[in-house]
Amino acid sequence: MTRVFKMIGTGSSDSSTMFNTNAAVMNDTKAFLIDCGLTVKSALNECGIGFDNISGIFISHVHGDHVFGLERVGYEYLFRLKTKVPLYIKADIYHELWDQTLKGSMGRIGEGEATLEDFFDVRIIQDNRFTHEGIHYEVFPVRHTPGKPCFGVCINDKILYTADTLTIPDILNAYRYTYCFHDVSLQEGNPVHANLSALMEYPQAVKQKIYLMSYSDDWKEYEHIVSEHFAGFAEQGKSVEL
Ligand SMILES: [Zn+2]
Repeated sequence: MTRVFKMIGTGSSDSSTMFNTNAAVMNDTKAFLIDCGLTVKSALNECGIGFDNISGIFISHVHGDHVFGLERVGYEYLFRLKTKVPLYIKADIYHELWDQTLKGSMGRIGEGEATLEDFFDVRIIQDNRFTHEGIHYEVFPVRHTPGKPCFGVCINDKILYTADTLTIPDILNAYRYTYCFHDVSLQEGNPVHANLSALMEYPQAVKQKIYLMSYSDDWKEYEHIVSEHFAGFAEQGKSVEL
């Protein structure tokens, strides 16, 4: 069985040429999603996975480019495909995700009042780890918007996916991984994403393992400097065998 980590989108939230930064862990034809942004349906269809092949979802944090696709998945899987997708979240984001975000559009259905559990097989992540279809996930808090929980994930000791964050040198030191997919802001001065200059401060050996993601439409202007210091930009469709 081939298991592959694949970027299904790599754009920043305001990108108009790339899909939202979301990934998929492929187990044969089934996709376990790492985040589920607004563009998830088009992204899955365009990269050949197909929207109907989602086997589960992990959510890093509650921003539209990471969760706004949940409405589509919730409705279509419940009513059209007659199933509930396993949804892995930390308890820290439950209230933000349902009460403050999804409930407004999903809280009432034809049958009456609905809950997050009516749409998804909700699995609260205990002890910062879970296993899904034989793949092991280790979850850790990162540093994104102050006061807002956000979690990265290390997959099978092979892929470290930072989600949205400032630089996290302590975490990059603490985990075992072959490749790191790291948030970047190519424009300096961003208070909640890792600026390129801050990423340059990582040790050389770490930078060599980093593919940058969540970047803006002008990324090609930075390709020379990124390819010189990092593994490169994670382009849409970029895959690594697990
Ligand atoms: Zn974010």
